Amino acid sequence: MSPVTHFLTGWVFANCAKLERRERALVTLACVVPDIDGLGIIPELLTRNSAHPLLWFTLYHHRLHTLAFSLVVAAVAFALARQRWKTTLLALASFHLHLFEDVLGSRGPDGYQWPIPYLTPFSHSLQLAWRGEWALNAWQNVVITAVLLFVTLWLAWRRGFSPVEMISAKADFAFVATLRRRFPRRLRDEVVRG
Ligand SMILES: [Zn+2]
Repeated sequence: MSPVTHFLTGWVFANCAKLERRERALVTLACVVPDIDGLGIIPELLTRNSAHPLLWFTLYHHRLHTLAFSLVVAAVAFALARQRWKTTLLALASFHLHLFEDVLGSRGPDGYQWPIPYLTPFSHSLQLAWRGEWALNAWQNVVITAVLLFVTLWLAWRRGFSPVEMISAKADFAFVATLRRRFPRRLRDEVVRG
């Protein structure tokens, strides 16, 4: 799935637990970070028609979709988090949610499945793929992304924070305020919540 879908998945997942701002960010980013191995798409596209095309996407995409890299990410989460163990375990789970989503629906336009070499560099024998995998631009991914976006907005409206907090707390405050002004809480809610 696309990095946007992974990001929203990580955010919604992080919000299933009681975490602080920094810890939420770590768990969210753990769901996106495997795709840094896809950044090779930029030089590959730029050099596509040159005499020496760089095949960095073709060669390296999914190289970091591995158990080994998930442990690196977990170690980083452990080092940066205050709620250490909780954040580390959730970051590890979040990373694996990414892999699961890729197995579900990341088939390339040419039909290639992009199997996940989970045990690389220790072993190349295990390649995770699912026969029913749908395409990266399939309707399923559009629906999943739309649902996640809706949940993200609902959480922001309800809890008072959104992924914007990763950039700026002030901007996030303004975003939530706009959202709540646009969709005011019902009077009954106000009364119950005092
Ligand atoms: Zn991926």
